[in-house]
Amino acid sequence: MRYDYIILGAGITGMSCAERLKQKEPDATILILEKESYTGGLSRSLSYKDWQLDLGPHRLYTPYQSVEKYLKELLKKELLTVKRSSAMYLHDKFVNYPFQVPNLLFSLSPIRAMQYMGSFLSQKLSDLRIPANSPGKILQEFSYTGYLKTRFGSRIAEDVFYPYAQKVWGLKPENLSSWILKKRVSSPNLSALMSSLLSSRQRESQVREEFQYPRLGMQQMIDRMEQRCRQKNIGFSLNNKASLLKRKPQHWEVTTLQGIYESQRVISTVPITEMINLTNNRFIREDKKLRQSFRSLNFRKILFVYIFLSRSPEDFKSWYYFPRTDIIFSRISNLKLFSEEIGPPHQTVLCCEIPMAMDKTPDSNTEDTVARDLEKTGLIQKEEIQDAYCHSEPFCYPVYDLIFEAKLKLIFQYLSRLTNLISTGRQGLFHHNNIDHAILMGWRAADYCHNSGFIIDLPRWYFQTIRTFDRFKIID
Ligand SMILES: Cc1cc2nc3c(=O)[nH]c(=O)nc-3n(C[C@H](O)[C@H](O)[C@H](O)COP(=O)(O)OP(=O)(O)OC[C@H]3O[C@@H](n4cnc5c(N)ncnc54)[C@H](O)[C@@H]3O)c2cc1C
Repeated sequence: MRYDYIILGAGITGMSCAERLKQKEPDATILILEKESYTGGLSRSLSYKDWQLDLGPHRLYTPYQSVEKYLKELLKKELLTVKRSSAMYLHDKFVNYPFQVPNLLFSLSPIRAMQYMGSFLSQKLSDLRIPANSPGKILQEFSYTGYLKTRFGSRIAEDVFYPYAQKVWGLKPENLSSWILKKRVSSPNLSALMSSLLSSRQRESQVREEFQYPRLGMQQMIDRMEQRCRQKNIGFSLNNKASLLKRKPQHWEVTTLQGIYESQRVISTVPITEMINLTNNRFIREDKKLRQSFRSLNFRKILFVYIFLSRSPEDFKSWYYFPRTDIIFSRISNLKLFSEEIGPPHQTVLCCEIPMAMDKTPDSNTEDTVARDLEKTGLIQKEEIQDAYCHSEPFCYPVYDLIFEAKLKLIFQYLSRLTNLISTGRQGLFHHNNIDHAILMGWRAADYCHNSGFIIDLPRWYFQTIRTFDRFKIID
């Protein structure tokens, strides 16, 4: 069968792109091919016994009115407003995070507090010697370590941010780009934190005290998105992994597990590295630099270990961060505080995240290590654990090393040659972002295809339009 559009991937980006295309072109035939037996990608929930378990703390917050309107329309009264509380485990104590100066200083010993303030002030003094726009300043802003040191001082950077980076991205902080830090606005810098003591408005811009969440868990939102697509005659083919994309004179031929499909245009939301493999053509075979570029773009997977307890969710905060490298998890979320209805009453589930390399197999005793470390932090006693469940999810975090932008440029140059094939979404553009951003990426791709007539102007997509996505901010 021949389609006007085939979309690869039934995550948030794929489904929002399909719905938008159908609004713009009601007669268009659209098929979404999804490799898994379910829709929703990273934003789905896992069904386990009587529970709906999200992949980590998925909360909805958006500064974009169009997305807010869409979410309200999608979930109506099912969209809850939830208060958040979060902390970081630092020097054997839980300190509210994002940091607030009084709490940070009073939670630490006076000596440590003085060390933190002293290293921040001495960094500020040494920064005065580096002229703005000088190569030294540019380098400082470009590297992960330089960016953090100048904003927090070296002591906080070394105790908090460097070990956390190593855990999450698996690289030494000096090998990471500051790109990801520029997208996160949880704690912009220590000076801003100090001025937020004086201005409540400033604090509000750094931290969201509330977020929104579907009453029955993220899966409820995914189910509604799928339902809306199906009502608009958008086809879904699940369990149907795309394995080859071939350019024919008039169309694309998509080979999958279940057969061969033809489409005028293809919109891909699958990981960019996989998508390039799918197009396996002579450019890739002949261009060694291109091959090296996409093979060295890395993602991290996460092992989610769900620990079930018969305790009240109110005993814990919404989520916690753990920079210390002798603790196996990087973050824990208390999903029942998001909505009481995601599981049985009077029970709690703590979702512990362990980021790891894509090819690493988790140790068989990981659940025990998680239990041991939960006890070590004082959050629970091992004996309280009633059940545990593990799930490993690939392609969770793109890894931003120091040369990822140069590698992406080569890849985008290659993709710009593939007429009527467009890559978008968190994985498709190697772009760490949130659900509201994924929705916008789907919509923008649909608008772009619709507006560009018979042939999509790909260089403009890859070198101008998607640059606007760099302005997306992840608000903690
Ligand atoms: C741990 C974690 C916590 C997060 N927390 C939040 C949060 O609090 N708030 C928030 O807004 N966002 C959060 N996010 C981000 C959010 O999950 C993503 O932005 C969003 O789900 C990305 O959607 P996507 O459609 O672009 O990608 P994906 O969800 O990855 O969808 C891609 C789809 O393509 C499919 N696919 C892959 N290969 C093929 C193939 N060859 N053929 C067919 N199909 C294929 C996949 O199975 C998948 O369904 C979080 C993400 C993670 C990992």
